[in-house]
This record gives sequence, structure tokens and C-alpha cells, in this order.
Amino acid sequence: MQQLTMIRTILSVFLLATATLRAGAPVYVALWFDTEDYIEPAADDAALRIARDLTGLGVRATFKVVGEKARVLEQRGRWDVVRALALHDIGYHSNFHSVQPTPALYLRDLGYVEGAAEFERREGPGALDLARIFGVRPSCYGQPGNSWAPQSNAALRHMGIPVYLDEGSQVGLNDQPFWYGGLLYIYNMGRFQLRAPLDGDEPVAKSNERFERAAAELTSHGGGVISIYYHPTEFVTTEFWDAVNFAHGANPERTAWRRPRRRTEAESERCYGILHDYVAHAKGVPGVRFVTARELLQLYGSPAPAPAERARIATHMSARQTFLATEDGTLSAADMLLSLLGMQPELVDGPAMRIASSLAGASLARAAFERAKTDAVSFIRANKRLPAAIWIGAEKLSIGDFAATLAGDDEAAAEIVVRRANLEFEKYFSNEPRKAFDWPIHPEGFSAPELLELGKLQGWTLKPARLR
Ligand SMILES: [Zn+2]
Repeated sequence: MQQLTMIRTILSVFLLATATLRAGAPVYVALWFDTEDYIEPAADDAALRIARDLTGLGVRATFKVVGEKARVLEQRGRWDVVRALALHDIGYHSNFHSVQPTPALYLRDLGYVEGAAEFERREGPGALDLARIFGVRPSCYGQPGNSWAPQSNAALRHMGIPVYLDEGSQVGLNDQPFWYGGLLYIYNMGRFQLRAPLDGDEPVAKSNERFERAAAELTSHGGGVISIYYHPTEFVTTEFWDAVNFAHGANPERTAWRRPRRRTEAESERCYGILHDYVAHAKGVPGVRFVTARELLQLYGSPAPAPAERARIATHMSARQTFLATEDGTLSAADMLLSLLGMQPELVDGPAMRIASSLAGASLARAAFERAKTDAVSFIRANKRLPAAIWIGAEKLSIGDFAATLAGDDEAAAEIVVRRANLEFEKYFSNEPRKAFDWPIHPEGFSAPELLELGKLQGWTLKPARLR
């Protein structure tokens, strides 16, 4: 009996020690709610209930609000909802969400620069409405459904929205946050994107177990982020508010909008209970801290590149154009290209289009190459963007071939060997233009290879985000 007590004591000391160790590497949980249903008024109450429940638990979440939803709350006089949400973090979830045309649809045929302007023209006013109604500039943006487009990155920076928080498969990096287009992306989180399902028969214990496993894995790797999301409307309806109105490109007039089918009150209570218990359990897991999008930006800092020796950058970039992770942090391919050109670090976009090399020779003269470098610097300074190609007289070197050649140059030889690009960062992008944009609201069979191509071109800016 005494032995058993001793074993128990040893065991509990051991467990305590493990817990203390685990608490060392933080697991940050981003809990976010796409607050979008402006058709069913019960969704207002759902947002209120969730916001208050979480406040009661001492947890702050991120409510990504649709512009029209915010305006509807204002029109309905739901200041109780606005105030309850404002105690959490406010993000942005597009101006009208599912009214046609949605972002991927209207951006598919546009280039990078004009697409960014069009995104801001259409989505900018909703972000301003959020600022007016909630009294705070949204901390983050995430696209409606799968309606992602890379042009939004430049527009969001211009709108002062620094974080991209959503789920999707177009781009992703090791199931953890990354820098892309100058924004902190919490996206494509794979095994670290979790939830306790509201429907089906998974016992909450199983959801909790999955959370604990994910947290333990992150802890053993020095910490990281778990992403959990819901929609307030899910708690009060059995079908999505937009699917019943805007499916497959449909765009009925406002007077013809239908309200989604409702859950019973008892069903809603059951759902609130699942969320409450799941969050309460997660909060108690050692090392876990709930954070908002705004706090994540503080935790990850800025996209400024880590310092690195020229020789190290040159060796890396001459063989492959992709990000570099060092002891001090990470550098994107664009960061390293600027460094090789002798430029100060600055935020730039990737090229706006793909241009192939026309220069056929195996080498080029020093003077011509130095002129090309000066021209590249001038273009980047003027446009805050990488050029698609660099002129060598009347011939062109693609930006990738130019970067590889520049990295391979010893800065002394009279003749510089032309190296060909190996754009390794492209492997972090989807090659499935239909699946990546699969969303019931998009027109039937919608496919956007143009957006994936443009997204890959912006892969020059891609790099893992490191906790400070
Ligand atoms: Zn949504």
C-alpha cells in the first residue's frame, strides 16, 4: 500500500515536471469566427452568445466580420453584439462575401497590379465600415470560401491589414504560419487546423485528444500555432446562409433572399456546449495560450529578413531559389536577391508576370552584366516589385535565371557564366486549379490556374515565420 503511494507520488512529480517542461515551448491557439451571415438575424444572437461565453472563459478570439454584416448589425441596432465582439479581436472577411462576383472570380482575369487596385476598390469600403462601427481597424483578412487571390496581398498591405487568417490549399508551408506578400499568413495549417465538430457523433473526448496530440507535437518542436475556426451562423442553422442563395454563381436580388433552415433551440444549446467545453479543455492544456490575430503579429514580429553572410546567400541562391532558414531567422528568395544586388532590405512584391529568357549564350561580359544589375536595382526601387526579366542589350534574362547567375558570380571574372533558374519555392503552391477554388458559391466548374500562376510568381516573398 505504502509502495503504491510512493509510486503515485513519484508519478505525480514526474507529470508535474513534464508539464513544466512542456510549458516552456508555447502553443498558441488562434480561435477565429467567420461572422458573415447577414440574412438570418439569429446569427447575430449566435455571435453575441459565443463572444460572451468566451469572455466568460477568459479567452479572446478573432471575429472576422463581413462588411455587410457589420452594416446590418448597425441597422438592426445590435450594439450589444458589436460591443461583445469588440472585446475580442476584429478581422475582416470581405465586403459582401458571397454576392457575385466573389474575389477569385473578379481577379482571375486581372494582373497583379490592376488586380490589387480592383480588390481595394471593391473590398476597401467594407473595411472602413468595420473601422467606423467597431472603432478599430481590422487586424486580419481572410477570403470568403475558397475565393483566394494573390493580388489581395498588395491591397491588404495598402489598407493597413497585416495578417492573412483563413484556411485554403493554394499556398502553404509546413502546416505553420509563414510570410507571404509581406503579410503574416496563418493558412493551410493541415494537422494543426482543428475543431470539435458540431455535428456527427465524434465524442468531445476524441476532439480533445486530437488537440492534446497536436499541442504536444508543437511543444516538442519549440512551439507553434493551432488554428481553430467556426462560423457563428453554424450554431443556429443547419444549412449555410449563402448556399441557399448564391450557389453556383446565382445572384438573386435582395428581396428574393431566403433564410437558411434553423436548428432548434436545444440543438443550438448543444453546439454552444461543445464549443465551450472544447475551449475550456484546450485552455487547461499545459503551455497553451489563446491569441488573437493582432497578438500573433506581435509574436512573429515583422517580415524583415534575418542577417546572413553574402557567401551563404550566394551558395544557396545559385543552386535553388527559395527561402533560407538560418539560426537567426529566415530570408525569402526576394530578400536574398536584394541582398545580392547590394540593396537595403525592403518589402517588395514578386514579378507581375512570367517572362522566359531569350539570351541563349552560356556566358556574358562583365560590363553588360553590371549594367543589367544597375537596371534591376532601378526597377525594384521604382516599382517595389521584382522585374519579370532583365534586359541584356536586346536579349532578356528571366528573373530566375538572373538571380541564379548573380548568385553564381564571383564579382571578378570578365565573363560571367549564365546559370538557369531552379524556382524551388513553387513547390509550396497548389497545382490543382479546380480543387483549390472549389466552393459551392463559385460558378459550376470554376477553375483559376491564372491565380495559382500569379501566386507562384509571388513565391519570391515566401518564407517561414519564426516566433520571436
Ligand atoms: Zn466565410
